[in-house]
Amino acid sequence: MLTGKVALVTGAGRGIGREIARALAADGATVIVNYNGSQECAEAVVAEIVGSGGSAEAVQCNVSDFAASEAFVKEVLDKYKRVDILVNNAGVTRDNLIMRMTEADYDAVLDTNLKGAFNMIRHLSRSFIRQRSGKIINISSVSGVLGNAGQANYSASKAGLIGLTKSVAREFASRGVNVNAVAPGFIDTDMTKGMTEDAKKTLSSMIPMGKMGGTKDIADLVLFLAGEHSDYITGQVICVDGGMSM
Ligand code: NAP
Repeated sequence: MLTGKVALVTGAGRGIGREIARALAADGATVIVNYNGSQECAEAVVAEIVGSGGSAEAVQCNVSDFAASEAFVKEVLDKYKRVDILVNNAGVTRDNLIMRMTEADYDAVLDTNLKGAFNMIRHLSRSFIRQRSGKIINISSVSGVLGNAGQANYSASKAGLIGLTKSVAREFASRGVNVNAVAPGFIDTDMTKGMTEDAKKTLSSMIPMGKMGGTKDIADLVLFLAGEHSDYITGQVICVDGGMSM
C-alpha cells in the first residue's frame, strides 16, 4: 500500500496520467494532479479521488518551463515536505514527416516531453537524495524504442527520456531512489483519437495481440513501479505494447 506516500503526476487531468493518479490514490497515496491547460478535467479527477475517500490536489504548471517547474516543486515541498513518487507523464505530439517538420514543432515536443521530465527531476533531486528513498517513473513510448515514421520529434524526445532515465538511475541507485521508464504502445486516449480508422487498422496489424491497449494497462505497471515490490528494479525500460516491440 502507498498510504502516507506523496505522489506527483504530471499531465494528470486526462488520459494515461488521470488513470495513474486514480490508481496511486486508490492505493493510499496523496496525489498532486498536475495540469497545464485542462483545469476542469484536473479538478474533476481530484473530486473523484476525494469523493472515494482519497487525498488529492490539482496544481497548474507548464512543466516545459524551468522556472515555473521550480516554483511548482517548491510549492509542493513547502506544503507536503516530500515527494515519494514522481511520474513524468506530460506529453504532446506534433507529427509530420521530417522534410515538413517545423522548428517550432520540433522544439515544442522536445520541450514538453524531455525537458519537462528533466525540469521535474532536477528540481526534486535534492529532496529525493535527502530522503534516501523514492520512485521516479518516466512515461516514454514504443516510438522511442523503435522509431516511427512521421514522429522524428516525438521519437527523439521519448528515446531521450530513456537516456535520461538510465543516467539518473545510475546517479541515484546508491541513494535508494529507483528510476524507470514505461514505454506504452498504442493506447486509447485523446492522443490517439485523431488517427484515421485506416491508420488504426494498420497499427493494430503490427501488434501481436491485435488490439490497442487501455490506460489501465499503463497505470497497473506504474503502480507496481511506485510500490515496494519493485525495490530492486532500476534503470529499466518496460514496454506495455501488446508485444509490438519484441
Ligand atoms: P493525452 O490524453 O493527450 O494527455 C496528455 C497530457 O499531458 C494532458 O494531461 C496534458 O495536460 C499534459 N501536458 C501536455 N503538455 C503539458 C505541459 N507543458 N505541462 C503539463 N502537462 C502537460 O495523452 P496520453 O495518451 O494520456 O499520453 C500520456 C503520456 O503517455 C504522454 O507522455 C505520451 O507521450 C505517452 N504515450 C502515449 C501513448 C498513447 O498511445 N496514447 C503511447 C505512448 C506513450 P493539459 O491537458 O492540462 O494540457
